[in-house]
Amino acid sequence: MHKLTLKELSAQLQARKISATELATLFLDRIEASDLNAFLHVDRALTLAQAQAADVRLAGNDAGPLTGVPIAHKDIFVTRNWRTTAGSHMLQDYVSPFDATVVEQFNAAGTVTLGKLNCDEFAMGSSNENSFYGPVKNPWDKTAIPGGSSGGSAAAVAARLAPAATATDTGGSIRQPASLCGVTGIKPTYGSVSRYGMIAFASSLDQGGPIAKTAEDCGLLLNAMTGFDERDSTSLQRPKEDFTRSLNQSLQGLRIGVPREFFGAGLAADVEAAVRGALAEFEKLGATLVDISLPKTELSIPVYYVIAPAEASSNLSRFDGVRYGHRAADYKDLAEMYKKSRAEGFGEEVKRRILVGSYVLSHGYYDAYYLQAQKIRRLIAEDFQRALAGENRQCDVIMGPVSPTVAWDLGDKTDDPVANYLADIFTLSTSLAGLPGMSIPCGFGQGGKNAKRPVGLQIIGNYFDEARLLNVAHQFQQATDWHLREPA
Ligand code: GLN
Repeated sequence: MHKLTLKELSAQLQARKISATELATLFLDRIEASDLNAFLHVDRALTLAQAQAADVRLAGNDAGPLTGVPIAHKDIFVTRNWRTTAGSHMLQDYVSPFDATVVEQFNAAGTVTLGKLNCDEFAMGSSNENSFYGPVKNPWDKTAIPGGSSGGSAAAVAARLAPAATATDTGGSIRQPASLCGVTGIKPTYGSVSRYGMIAFASSLDQGGPIAKTAEDCGLLLNAMTGFDERDSTSLQRPKEDFTRSLNQSLQGLRIGVPREFFGAGLAADVEAAVRGALAEFEKLGATLVDISLPKTELSIPVYYVIAPAEASSNLSRFDGVRYGHRAADYKDLAEMYKKSRAEGFGEEVKRRILVGSYVLSHGYYDAYYLQAQKIRRLIAEDFQRALAGENRQCDVIMGPVSPTVAWDLGDKTDDPVANYLADIFTLSTSLAGLPGMSIPCGFGQGGKNAKRPVGLQIIGNYFDEARLLNVAHQFQQATDWHLREPA
């Protein structure tokens, strides 16, 4: 049962082959037996109460496609009943008085919450090693990182501890862990998913999305989690759409842009081989490959690592031991209370970003760094528009690797923040442009001793082209079985 997709589980529930309570119990038992450190907070009684309510809805005539389906939430989404830590010591005992909009939407759809998922502190990281609660292990090889910052979400789905999970992506945190754990994830167009109750990292980039086994499941989850929210000032006002509407369209004539800059010197041979294999598969499905250029790709690293810390330094000022967060036990005066609380509450990487962010926003440096980064951000977005939009557009979607390498070993890059930043090279530009992007499993690369480590294919589309991305991914998943492979 734990191997089924969300779509299949939904059918089992509707046909009364299994109850929501039985299903929740099955996954709770798997979570309890797991040693991956993917979950930060599980509460059987709360989960089972939700499951019983779902069973009542299923027995009546009140069930939708997600009613009774168990999912888990990244610990960046605040929840009324489960603690929300954002992976930080700062929020160790925090319980929100309200649910994030995304959580509210899923609750209304009748999903059953299995618990809260580990992540990098305040979603800052690429390996989950920045979590105050310890790293998550990659289910394919427990000596490897799961990716980050949504490492708990990706590992939980890969290990079949949950059929699906919520996640957030600021510069790749849905796509990269999905890639490194061999599962499917999509970051929709910026503004599609409400940020209300999603603990803020970099507000102009943060975007929620789902991680699941298949593209089809991601479509069902997006149907529930998107929509206008007046409590989020950048939420888009658009008519509700069915993201699964084009899944079965043929890919005959699809033009796939293959950016030169995504296949340069930094790309590992095993990742390149898997990605090229996937591109060949798409050609068999009727697509043609077009050589394109996204010349500003390399600049996305310095640009992102100026803009994201700048916004973070401002967003994180609320964690001062008064309004929110940990408060130091002893202090002489107010100033020392702030200093000690923040020094104790935040981890290394978060502090580094607050320092960088405050610096690039400060008088005299603002023009040189922050403003300059904003200008280049615009040029990065224009690169994509030249390829994907207008009369002379070159392609319908863009494909390439998600990560330059497979998952690296735990501990490998912990002393070298820049090495972590460089690994974000293929995901940052999509985020800076606000475009939708997804990752689907497409093969394996070399791991440690005997273990194989998954490779993900990135699919990027123009604004609001999620249904097409899911169609493209679904057709690939109908023709291949990478997404069904499971860790031992
Ligand atoms: N790895 C990137 C960072 O460390 C992206 C994180 C994210 O998308 N939340 O900021």
